[in-house]
Formats: sequence, C-alpha cells, structure tokens
Amino acid sequence: MPKPIDILRTVFGYDGFVGPQESIIETLLAGRDAVVLMPTGGGKSLCYQIPALIRPGTAVVVSPLIALMRDQVQSLTQNGVRAAYLNSSLSAAEARGVEAELLAGRLDLIYVAPERLFLAGFLEQLGRIPLALFAIDEAHCVSQWGHDFRPEYTRLGMIAERFPEVPRLALTATADDLTRADIIRQLGLESARVFASGFDRPGIRYLVALKDQPERQLADFLRAQPAGDAGIVYRMSRKKVEATAASLGKQGFTALPYHAGLDPATRERNQERFMREDGVIMVATVAFGMGVDKPNVRFVVHLDPPTSLEAYHQETGRAGRDGLPAVALMTYGLGDIAMLRRLVAMDAGSTRLPADTQEGRGESRVRHERLKQQKLTSLLGFCETTNCRRQVLLRYFGQDLPEPCGNCDICLDPVESWDGTVAAQKALSTIFRVQEGFGAGHLADVLVGKLTKAVERWGHEAVSTFGIGTELSRPEWLSVYRQLVAAGLADVDMEGYGALKLNAHSWEVMRGGRTVALRRDPVPVRGAQKPLAP
Ligand code: ADP
Ligand code: ZN
Repeated sequence: MPKPIDILRTVFGYDGFVGPQESIIETLLAGRDAVVLMPTGGGKSLCYQIPALIRPGTAVVVSPLIALMRDQVQSLTQNGVRAAYLNSSLSAAEARGVEAELLAGRLDLIYVAPERLFLAGFLEQLGRIPLALFAIDEAHCVSQWGHDFRPEYTRLGMIAERFPEVPRLALTATADDLTRADIIRQLGLESARVFASGFDRPGIRYLVALKDQPERQLADFLRAQPAGDAGIVYRMSRKKVEATAASLGKQGFTALPYHAGLDPATRERNQERFMREDGVIMVATVAFGMGVDKPNVRFVVHLDPPTSLEAYHQETGRAGRDGLPAVALMTYGLGDIAMLRRLVAMDAGSTRLPADTQEGRGESRVRHERLKQQKLTSLLGFCETTNCRRQVLLRYFGQDLPEPCGNCDICLDPVESWDGTVAAQKALSTIFRVQEGFGAGHLADVLVGKLTKAVERWGHEAVSTFGIGTELSRPEWLSVYRQLVAAGLADVDMEGYGALKLNAHSWEVMRGGRTVALRRDPVPVRGAQKPLAP
C-alpha cells in the first residue's frame, strides 16, 4: 500500500502535511469515520483525495457547489488523478459517459451533487462497484438552523445504512457546537473521530472591555495604536456607523462609513480608499468585510458585540492576514446584551423555517430561538471568562489550546477575581432544587428571593435556597451563572429551553471538593498598552 506522504509528494507536489491532515487520512485508511472542522483554506480536500487514491475502489464526494467540483476535477486530472463529476451542468450524453467510466471502475473520485445521488438508480449503481469512501463536503448544509440548509442533505444519513462498510468523512468550515451536533446526528457519525483545527490566529491579540463611553474608549484605543495603521470598527446599526465615523473625523482620524444604506458608488469609493490608502479606519456594519482581503489590517474593533462567536472569529480574522501582530478589541455592556436578546427574539419570529420539519411550526420556531440564545450565551461566556480568551474561543470551535496564550487581555493582565465558591454552591444548589428545569433568570430570582409569577406558580418560594443570595444583585447572579457555564461547571440544556443543568464538575463544587474563582466587573480596555509581540 502506498504511503500517504509519498502520494502527497508525487501526486500533489507538496513537502509535508499541514495540521491534522495526516491523522485524518490515517483514520480513513483504518476504515473509521471522521468529522473535519477546518476554516476555509485549511486544506480539507487532501483529507479525502489521498485516501481515495490509496483505498481500493472509487471515492464518492458529495458537494453542493458546481463551480468547486469543476475546479477540483480539473486540478486533479492535471495531476494525473482519474476524477469526474456528475451534476446538472452536464448534458445527458456527458453524464452517461461519466457513469460508464464509473461502472467500469476507471475513476478514483466521483464528485456528485446531492440531488444527483438520489436520482433513480444511482445508488444501485454505486452498490455494484467497490467504494473507497464517502466524503460529504459543506456538511453544515444538513443543519436547518444555518444559512445554507439544503433539504437533500438530510437524506444523506441513509448512506450509513446502505453502505455500512464504507468509511465516511464529513467536512465543514462551520464549527459551532450546534451545527456539529446536527451533522453528527443527521449523518449518523456518532462514532466518528472529530478533528477541529486551524481556528487559531496566534498573531491576533484579543481584548474585551466593559462598555462605558464607547466613542471615548475607541479614541483612546486608536491613539495608542501606531499612526498610519488601518483598521475596521464594527457597529451594530447604520446610525451608529455614521455617528462614530463623524466623531472620529472630527478628532482628526481618517474614518469612512460603510453600510448597506449608502449608495453603491459611495460604498465602492470608501472601500477602494480603505484598500489603497494607508491608515484608513473603516467604520462599518457587518455588511463590510466579505471578500475584502487587505493583508495589513492592524486592528478590528467591535464597539458593539457581534451576535455569535463565529461571527466574532470571522470578523476579527480580517486583522493581521499578513501574519504580523494585530489587535481585536470588543466592548460590550448590559444594554447590548438586552438588545441582542431582543434581536434574537425578533429574528426567530420572522425567519422562514424549513417546510419539512417533523416538529410543528410553533415548536420549531421556539427551538430556533433557543439555539440562537445559546449561541449568544457562548458569546457572553467568552466576554466574562476569567480564563485565557483564546482558550475559550478555540474550545467553542472544538480545538484545545493546552496552555494559556499570553496574548489576550486576561493573560497579559489577570483579572481581579474573588472566591466565588460559596456563591457557586448556592447557585448550583438552586439548579438542583428546581430540578434542572429553569434558566438563569428564574434561578437568580429564587436566589434573591423575588416573588415573581413563575416563582409562585412553581412554588419555588418554598425551596431551601429561596432568598439565600441577597449578598449579590440579580445581574450579579446572572453573571455568576454565565461564568459557571463558561467554566464548564454547569451546562445549558440544548433541548430544554435553555434550562441550566448540573454535571460532574458541579457536584465537585457542591461537595466542597473544588474552589471557584469568579471575576470582578471588567474594567475599560486592559492590555491595550502592552507592546505587541514581534
Ligand atoms: P479547504 O477545502 O479547507 O478550503 P483546500 O483543500 O482547498 O482547503 O486547500 C487550500 C489550499 O491549501 C490549496 O491551495 C491546497 O493546495 C493547499 N494545501 C492543502 N494541503 C497542503 C499541504 N499539505 N501542503 C501545502 N499546501 C497545501
Ligand atoms: Zn490568553
């Protein structure tokens, strides 16, 4: 059997593997399934192309992107690999030609669109030839909660039943917990090895500050940056974009606005100046950034928080593409959190939902809303952590960073923490007393002894922890719960309306076997003054 490294060198002309490519290839060669989460450009294709060449039989690659199939097949055939595709862009005669090659066993790889796979007779044909593996590209398309949902993808689960001996590989650049759980469940990949990698951007320094006077904080931050640096400042609304750009302009910065409400000519002109000139600050809504590839963006500021850690990762990832040090600053306040929650609720009310869900429409909407709330909770956990931010961020993407990074506000300037062990015990016991069926808001009401309608309805004024937490305010208890979840000392129930649940770590804390450090309120922009590592 040829070795993966030899194929990499002789067929593809590269010297060595990057990231987990080799382990993924070994997993498939051993006949096991894999789930691969890697950002775009991380090198996912080789993970199935090399096993396709080593394992006997043809590899079936399911992809929804016709242009991508064509490009891949073209570059593979240039490398002498026998590859072809089947999708709606082929004439009937061309498709018949490809099928004949496939049935004759003359293809190493066949790329197919998902709807093509389910055309009459095609799976029977596949059943008659030896198959090397199934690769399911853009696997997040199975998730109804994402933007790229494709109904045909939900049928791909049957591959496992129909071809149980053929190893399967699901690949995606979308890596949040919920999408990942959907991929694993729907594609029957419960026993697959999960590989998450390539999400770290070590050159970016992460700073998070409590929002106080945002425009002043921004100006202070900008003055601490070397003159002539280019950067992006994200704001939540068009109005705020205009106001911040104008205020920076008055203070002598070259700041340009960018949002979908500007006429296309102005947008284009501003983008052009940002790309060409030195030291332009683009003040923008999230409308800005797609396809903007300026290598020397030195900072990205979120003056209002993003809606999820994925959005945060993607938007901050626009800084430092040249590999030189860069800074990502976020400011957030309680007002933002309330606003984000409202947006989540509004969005859930207006989103068009997939028609063929098994759940009723109303129930499905509730679930949709809950999942968005949970994404928000992860973001808040990131904001409020007392641990290295990069570790929290990468953990969200399923990637472990063994040591604190040394390049985030918390590593550079550890937060003042207090011994929250007793508070944590009270908070966790309350979860237990209400039988793990309630969210943080209700739990905080119980702790401070607030007689709300819900408390009365469930008789929670009678539980032993009712009113035992008056030393902290309700918002402080909410912060305690967020920190507990962020530290993995309690879980949020994915299926149960965001109810908080206990886990093994919670019990350690409640039995007194573990102390808990909680953070004091964060202070404005820490770590910004420290020199960036070369
Ligand atoms: P993805 O599918 O994850 O977006 P690709 O598979 O298209 O990424 O790979 C991105 C780029 O990296 C391609 O140009 C590819 O040729 C290159 N690449 C992948 N693996 C290696 C490697 N081991 N050595 C060098 N270049 C690689
Ligand atoms: Zn760190």
